[in-house]
Amino acid sequence: MAKQASTFDDVEALRRSILVALLIFTTAFGATFAALNYFNANYTAMAGEIAMGLFALCLVPVIRRTAHLVRWSFVYLVLFNTTMMLILTTPQSAPSVFAWVLLIPILSHMLLGRALGGGVTAVFLATAFAIYYTRFSDSAVTGNPRALLNVAGVAFCIFGFSFVYETSRSRAEKALKRQAHTDPLTGLGNRAHLKLRFAEAKARYERDGTPLALLLLDIDFFKAINDSHGHEAGDNALRAVSSLLIDTVGPADDVFRYGGEEFCILLSDVSATQARQAAEALRGLVEASSFEEAGETLSFTTSIGVAACPQDGSELQALLGAADKRLYAAKLAGRNRVVWE
Ligand code: GH3
Ligand code: MG
Ligand code: MG
Repeated sequence: MAKQASTFDDVEALRRSILVALLIFTTAFGATFAALNYFNANYTAMAGEIAMGLFALCLVPVIRRTAHLVRWSFVYLVLFNTTMMLILTTPQSAPSVFAWVLLIPILSHMLLGRALGGGVTAVFLATAFAIYYTRFSDSAVTGNPRALLNVAGVAFCIFGFSFVYETSRSRAEKALKRQAHTDPLTGLGNRAHLKLRFAEAKARYERDGTPLALLLLDIDFFKAINDSHGHEAGDNALRAVSSLLIDTVGPADDVFRYGGEEFCILLSDVSATQARQAAEALRGLVEASSFEEAGETLSFTTSIGVAACPQDGSELQALLGAADKRLYAAKLAGRNRVVWE
């Protein structure tokens, strides 16, 4: 099945583009500054800039494809920052070269996130501060401590803003991700969440043979509830079924709202027989339960199709297909029943 692009792939794609842009920028600036440093006779800085520029250029095709973007970003930033620190220690580099240090918090947070980005920033800002202090202690610190305070103050502010910005961005991303995976009516996971959880269960099956099963459950004659008691009552019925299912399944199992009045249950570490028994228990429980709606007691039944991995396949589509066919068979056979083969 083709991979669907999502907002979260977009975040990854954005980070990838930022890093590629940074690599091209590094090569261009590396070449320019290497030429300037050649005429300045600052050969250490020149060598560092040429090495960093070439490394950045070679990295462009790697970054376009890699599945380990954060790892590569970390390697690149550590080398980039270390080269910067080495250049700062050369006697030929002027105090204004320290302005480049201000890039560290912004790039680190953008590419590495809050924790790793914050750590990298703290280490390299402290190093830059130590180099600055050592090199200009006479003129800048003793002679003019305000210069050091200005540089340190601006660096610290940019560190703080980058950290706060990245924190709120990553919180917003998490909230959006949660929202995108949640059905607003019942609070259950939706199909996107089912895909994610199934992938985890499938990985467990492939790693250590842990079996799994899917139940597809559809409320019988649900339209009649809407028709006779109104849409609001239908919504309440869906919430009631959700709560019942959540309260009944085991802690390792998951309930999803699959469609309008269809639910999918992912059972972990169960044989086909245990899955069938679990489905039968759920069917009986729904049949036996009722809920109050505007002074009236409503009750309904469900039909359930069962599919198990590995018997019916190990792909989500295969299992959903088998469960759906059996659900349809349960409906045809008169509803309020479980079909497993
Ligand atoms: P069957 O036993 O064959 O499943 O019959 P049914 O009436 O349950 O099935 P049908 O597919 O004909 O109708 C499903 C109904 O579920 C139609 C739709 O209006 C209703 N429905 C779907 N989503 C919602 C919802 O979010 N809220 C409410 N109140 N009704 C919904
Ligand atoms: Mg139905
Ligand atoms: Mg239906």
